[in-house]
Amino acid sequence: MQMFQYIQIVECVQRLCIDCAYNLPEDVLEVLTNAWATESKPRAKHILGQLIENAQVAKADRIPLCQDTGLAVVFVEQGANTVISPPPEKPTATIIDAIQEGVARGYEKGILRKSIVAEPLNERQNTRTNTPAVIHHSVVPGAGIKISVMAKGGGCENKSQFKMFNPTESKEVVTGWIVEVVKNAGANACPPFVIGVGIGGNFELSCLLSKKSLLRNMGDPSGDPFYAQMESDLLKAINATGLGPQGLGGDTTALAVCIETAPCHIASLPVAVNIECHSHRHKSIEL
Ligand code: SF4
Repeated sequence: MQMFQYIQIVECVQRLCIDCAYNLPEDVLEVLTNAWATESKPRAKHILGQLIENAQVAKADRIPLCQDTGLAVVFVEQGANTVISPPPEKPTATIIDAIQEGVARGYEKGILRKSIVAEPLNERQNTRTNTPAVIHHSVVPGAGIKISVMAKGGGCENKSQFKMFNPTESKEVVTGWIVEVVKNAGANACPPFVIGVGIGGNFELSCLLSKKSLLRNMGDPSGDPFYAQMESDLLKAINATGLGPQGLGGDTTALAVCIETAPCHIASLPVAVNIECHSHRHKSIEL
């Protein structure tokens, strides 16, 4: 049995939140740089250059990449042989409590905008801690813990969509709908995008898959050749829309498309699209 102290988890999550906000992942920077190199429209190329410069300045000056420092989405894989030891003053505290405390500390210490309201429709009062984070916890074989934090901006999240298709629907119809979702996202979602797609599962699982797909390394295609081809076709079709960086035209509307799938009911074909902006911030750690 492997044991971690509660405070270890808190401090890890705190660091991940700050790291997310200041440092664009290297793989994202690389695809942005490749897009800049191949972009044919001068204005689009200029914008891509500014995004690259923005990432360099944020890293050097330790300031957020964007004013919207996001809702913290945390994926945790806890080994079945791993326990968290709570501190004496919080004997019932769990790993979930530790993650929430880590997010609150990270947003405070990193001077990151707190964007969470306690209640969604009526009072909408800011919690002033950027918590609660949205946490997806799963138990995996073995020991150890993997924690991934994604800082998800509101503008791009707002343009994400779900659709339940007829189970006999063709790949072409599904692909066409995904391209329409991206076109409708437009400038408000801050292109160039990373497009997360979840296909299968059920209503909620397809949405979760579309979010989880965004954790994939940008250069890695789906492990299934059918979906790897679909990712490639979708990326071409999305970039052919000409929406471009910041919606001002160009060859670069999306940097990548990531599809994750799951088995589903014979009567269903759920598809979810999670739009992610160019400020594609996520960091992981394995303990
Ligand atoms: S969508 Fe992304 S880049 Fe645009 S304001 Fe939100 S976090 Fe920032």
